[in-house]
Amino acid sequence: RAKELGKNNYQFFSPDMNARAFEHLVLENSLRYALERRELILHFQPQIDIVSGELEGVEALIRWEHPELGLIPPSSFIPLAEENGLIVPIGDWVLQEACRMLKLWQVAGYAIPRLAINLSARQFLREQLPQQVAATLASYDIPPQRLELEITESMIMQNPQRAVSVLGELRAMGVKLAIDDFGTGYSSLSNLKHFPLDTLKIDRSFIVGVPEDEDSAAIAEAIVAMAKKLRLKVVAEGVETIQQMLFMRRSGCHAVQGYLYAMPLDADALLRYLAREGYAAAGPVDASPA
Ligand code: C2E
Ligand code: MG
Ligand code: MG
Ligand code: MG
Repeated sequence: RAKELGKNNYQFFSPDMNARAFEHLVLENSLRYALERRELILHFQPQIDIVSGELEGVEALIRWEHPELGLIPPSSFIPLAEENGLIVPIGDWVLQEACRMLKLWQVAGYAIPRLAINLSARQFLREQLPQQVAATLASYDIPPQRLELEITESMIMQNPQRAVSVLGELRAMGVKLAIDDFGTGYSSLSNLKHFPLDTLKIDRSFIVGVPEDEDSAAIAEAIVAMAKKLRLKVVAEGVETIQQMLFMRRSGCHAVQGYLYAMPLDADALLRYLAREGYAAAGPVDASPA
């Protein structure tokens, strides 16, 4: 691979080297500078209580505003960043930036109950994680309950003993913990009962076929039922239609996230959405008495 030829060497591309490999290399080089050039941004997707219609929180989803290539989705650079270790400083930035935004919204009087961020495997396995989360929350004076960390089944199953202790530390702190993309990994709900979790997010692949496809419908219903027995809050990902929403509500699912309600929005668009939907409860707060 070209990157193994060394940093300052000429890199030769055979005519048949495919465009993907070339793009990979270009991305890898510019990703190194993306953080310092402030090209990474967070978008936010609302999560809505399926019964009350209230805003439960938002999930932060990273994007890369590349000067030449435009907006790059995480699927095009997070795997790369995981491979080369850049995910660690990127993940640090996401945590920091998410807490900064949460504080900003609070000061501006927007009632956003909770913010969720996605962790990568490397971040999750780092010794310092609980302490780092605690320090970041403290520096922005944010109650730990207002932050949710999303991890995947495979991150837990990679090293279950370690996961128990990390999750235990985070839980003791009061941070909320969610399993993301549930159903796509190799774990089962009975495995998950050993871990201190608050939320289970049903993967979009099970929601797509609901309610027409009987298998999808049966699986989605079964996941909700079992998750509720384990006292987990259940969130359906990728809800795009009213039929899907109604089916998930009948199944007992607590919350939904998907294009039916909102796409991931940049910070300005999120505030406009909140205002339009009547979630911008208080308006700017003026703490000083007249
Ligand atoms: P995820 O955490 O499962 O996030 C949900 C993805 O589904 C998002 O894609 C979102 O835009 C998309 N989505 C939401 N509702 C709908 C819908 O109704 N229909 C369809 N078709 N899609 C919907 P996105 O933003 O491209 O993120 C993809 C993945 O990248 C995330 O999956 C997450 O695993 C990862 N990711 C995103 N941000 C971060 C981050 O800050 N750190 C890490 N480590 N990973 C991240
Ligand atoms: Mg997620
Ligand atoms: Mg997900
Ligand atoms: Mg996903």
